[in-house]
Amino acid sequence: MAEVIRINENTWRVEDGMVRFFVLEGMEKALMIDSGMTTPNAMDIAKTVTKKPLELLNTHADRDHISGNGAFEFCYMSPAEEGNYGMKGSGAAIRPIKEGDVLDLGDRPLEIIDIPGHTPGSVAILDVNARVLFSGDSVQSGTIYMFGPFRNLADYIPSMQKLCTYRNRFDVIYPSHGAFPVEPALIEKLIGGAREILDGKAQGEVKELFGNQVIHYQFPYAGFFCELK
Ligand SMILES: [Zn+2]
Repeated sequence: MAEVIRINENTWRVEDGMVRFFVLEGMEKALMIDSGMTTPNAMDIAKTVTKKPLELLNTHADRDHISGNGAFEFCYMSPAEEGNYGMKGSGAAIRPIKEGDVLDLGDRPLEIIDIPGHTPGSVAILDVNARVLFSGDSVQSGTIYMFGPFRNLADYIPSMQKLCTYRNRFDVIYPSHGAFPVEPALIEKLIGGAREILDGKAQGEVKELFGNQVIHYQFPYAGFFCELK
């Protein structure tokens, strides 16, 4: 059963087992950031906390972020995510968003930052006035999936470096997995970890994951599942 937790007067997180999604309310409308893993009723869950017209944005199209998409006519999503969404999703049509776009919920502007790597169309969302960054799967203390189609660890590093340039605009990060919330300093640590992996300096362990052999790299701050070379 998904658990709804109020973060502040106009922001909620919904803990859906291994993943979380969010409901944000502005003066005019509300936005869900992702729609969960086991919650085709994600829209109904959101409507228990807000009466404002509700829209949906997906940080990316992995299965654990789109289970409730079918209830929506459209979802804000990066068009670079089309291939991934086509393979994993159904329901809501993509309404494209890109770097620099601002969705305003009414006195609550949300700025889109493209952060390809975990998936080609992964985005982070800057809740400008609240100084919060919603990071999807790309910045988190759990294990970041970097194996299989659509993943690219080399792209991930410049995306994280870009987030560092926004560093003076947020104080805290709300990730989709792992500990909640996390410190902005985690971004630099993840860059370091990704570099060590790419440079062949990190020590990994072969593991079985959903029938795939992957390499698991565990750092003190987070882990990565990577392609077995
Ligand atoms: Zn995820």
